[in-house]
Amino acid sequence: MALTTRTRDSKMPSMLLEKLSISLQNCQRCRLASGRTQVVFGTGNPHASIMFVGEAPGFYEDKEGIPFVGAAGKLLTNLLGSVGLSRSDIYIANVIKCRPPNNRDPLPDEVETCQPFLLQQIHCINPCLVCSLGNFATQTLLGKKIGITKVRGRTFRLPEFVLFPLLHPAAALHQGNLRASLEEDFKKLKHVLDTMDEECSPPLPSDSFSTPDQQSVPEPSPQPIQMNLF
Ligand code: URA
Repeated sequence: MALTTRTRDSKMPSMLLEKLSISLQNCQRCRLASGRTQVVFGTGNPHASIMFVGEAPGFYEDKEGIPFVGAAGKLLTNLLGSVGLSRSDIYIANVIKCRPPNNRDPLPDEVETCQPFLLQQIHCINPCLVCSLGNFATQTLLGKKIGITKVRGRTFRLPEFVLFPLLHPAAALHQGNLRASLEEDFKKLKHVLDTMDEECSPPLPSDSFSTPDQQSVPEPSPQPIQMNLF
């Protein structure tokens, strides 16, 4: 696999990420502040070319302060291994940085409040490829309310990175029949990784974009990723 980390200034991303993380430690911007143990900012390699984005911390993530450490995280780690990636090759964050009560779905105003910080994280890390896990991450990054089943396993070129939506590992744990589909998404991911080089160029082969039902591919509304940090 050609693509794991990007060659460039080695201090910038980690310093900016660290600053951003510290600035959020005591965040009180939404109601989730009152129920959390801690803010779960993100973890992994700040120089990664590949970033994964989930929904929100669950019980174990809230306790440990690290995304994807519960059952869904273990499945994710195994699936990463199946495509030759380890957790230290990638960076992982969630759209929402604080655990919603009883793991309920994030509310629209919570997504709206937290989204800028995800975009700032992406901007600091500057990955070639962002893998969104499930509906919330995919819809947040595509800027469109579209079901994950319509877009999973496909590539979307956004202004600053290529987006590759996959099913959420928790969905595969809850509905056993989705496990094979998630494994299929990871096989497609492997193909995407194998065809991208270290500078994320040349562009992905056109067949990554032209699936038979391309007509139904939504035009992702390119969200200007506006990320002046402070
Ligand atoms: N699900 C997520 O989306 N994120 C986590 O950190 C854990 C489970």
